[in-house]
Amino acid sequence: MPNAMLECPKCHLVLNIKEEGDGVYYVCSNCGYKVPFPNWVHHDCRKCGCDKAELMFYGIVRGDEVPLTMYKCVRCGTVEREGFA
Ligand SMILES: [Zn+2]
Ligand SMILES: [Zn+2]
Repeated sequence: MPNAMLECPKCHLVLNIKEEGDGVYYVCSNCGYKVPFPNWVHHDCRKCGCDKAELMFYGIVRGDEVPLTMYKCVRCGTVEREGFA
């Protein structure tokens, strides 16, 4: 999942995902650089059991159409869909 990877602007190392209190952050293990993880929500991953996922919306909303909601696991990158029966 290369598009999920963030680099530390100082060290150019791939940032680790870390839980802190009630938030999730990208953290550099070398210098401690930290950025909040975007749009994370509680969602149980079917694959790895991780309870945190990135919330994404897909598609254009037209009229009364409901946008497709996707959850991307912060740990293993598995994407699960919701919104269609
Ligand atoms: Zn760093
Ligand atoms: Zn997972």
